[in-house]
Amino acid sequence: MKAITVEPGCAGSARLEDVAEPGVRDGSVLVEAVAVGVCGTDVEIAEGKYGWAPEGSKRLVLGHESLGRVIDPGPRQTLRAGDLVVGIVRRPDPVPCPSCAVGEWDMCRNGKYTERGIKEIHGFMSERWRIEPEYAMKVDPSLGLLGVLLEPTTVVTKAWEQVAAVGHRAFWEPRTVLVTGAGPIGLLAALVAKQHGLEVHVLDRVTSGPKPDLVKALGATYHSGSATEIGFQADVIIECTGVGPVIADSLKSVASGGIVCLTGVGSGGRVGTMPIADMAAEAVLRNNVIVGSVNANKRHWYKAGEALARADRSWLSRLVSRRAPPEEFASALKREPDDIKVVVQFSGA
Ligand SMILES: [Zn+2]
Repeated sequence: MKAITVEPGCAGSARLEDVAEPGVRDGSVLVEAVAVGVCGTDVEIAEGKYGWAPEGSKRLVLGHESLGRVIDPGPRQTLRAGDLVVGIVRRPDPVPCPSCAVGEWDMCRNGKYTERGIKEIHGFMSERWRIEPEYAMKVDPSLGLLGVLLEPTTVVTKAWEQVAAVGHRAFWEPRTVLVTGAGPIGLLAALVAKQHGLEVHVLDRVTSGPKPDLVKALGATYHSGSATEIGFQADVIIECTGVGPVIADSLKSVASGGIVCLTGVGSGGRVGTMPIADMAAEAVLRNNVIVGSVNANKRHWYKAGEALARADRSWLSRLVSRRAPPEEFASALKREPDDIKVVVQFSGA
């Protein structure tokens, strides 16, 4: 079968090639690939900056934002042939650490977890893949191709749970949410915040293209420029850019008692000479919390499925802005100005 593979650590090594059919060791459920979403992590792996091949293998099958159709549910029979499923990405570390031991692999303490398409397990960019039944999440069949948005939505449902956990340390009635960055994660964060009944604002640097319209269509308010200039202090800020100055502005502009949840992974971005003690004093005097959030466990996957099932299909479909066949995976890995979520499509949903 065909698969898109890469030699981790080796820039420009991604290619579409023939590989062996997936073995039952990967799981008892056999799935036909429908589509796989592309994100910044895939681009980093293709550029040789990240990623690990499975033990004994030089190459890694790319792809972690999956959607597939069950061909053979295997002996467990919790799924049926024809079900649309998405594969959970992370597997608990083998030690296991206390978090992995209780199924919270997203909170892994020792970093020895593995991840499909990223760290030591093959991903989903192959014509067929196998998965353990307990890691195959069934999606609402009416979502069709939009089920490919499940994985990025899990990042947001976990982040929101973290915000709520921090919020409930005291009396908490949040009214306003600011999302920084109107990429797929930011837009899905705005969707989830809206579903929680909050007044939602989204900030991005662009002033044209699909992003401002998508934000308005959600019933949220679009801003471009700095978080310090939007005219109010948000109770919750979900930071989805990982960009230094945007993070600094978020910390400066959050309301008293407010929470900044960081979901973006960037690097560098030094902002002048940051007065750390001054910033800490502000956080102390205003009871602010900065919380980082990564990955998701099964509870968040379930919640993400609920969130997508409730969402307006035509709005969600505008998030999948470009589809490429496997032969054109290289174009899918290249960012175009109006891209939101690009997917590699293997078969019809
Ligand atoms: Zn662990």
